[in-house]
Amino acid sequence: MSDKYEGEFYCVKCKAKRTATGNIEVNAKGTRMAKGKCPVCGTNLNRILGKA
Ligand SMILES: [Zn+2]
Repeated sequence: MSDKYEGEFYCVKCKAKRTATGNIEVNAKGTRMAKGKCPVCGTNLNRILGKA
């Protein structure tokens, strides 16, 4: 399974919202997380999407 998420992430480095595409991963607690990369500074971005 390789779901993609495309949408807004908050970049803590830029202190701004960025639109990026990331892979959706599910952690041990069953929470879906989108993991992307800031297109401006390259920082890893995480967004919690909720329970799977
Ligand atoms: Zn950034």
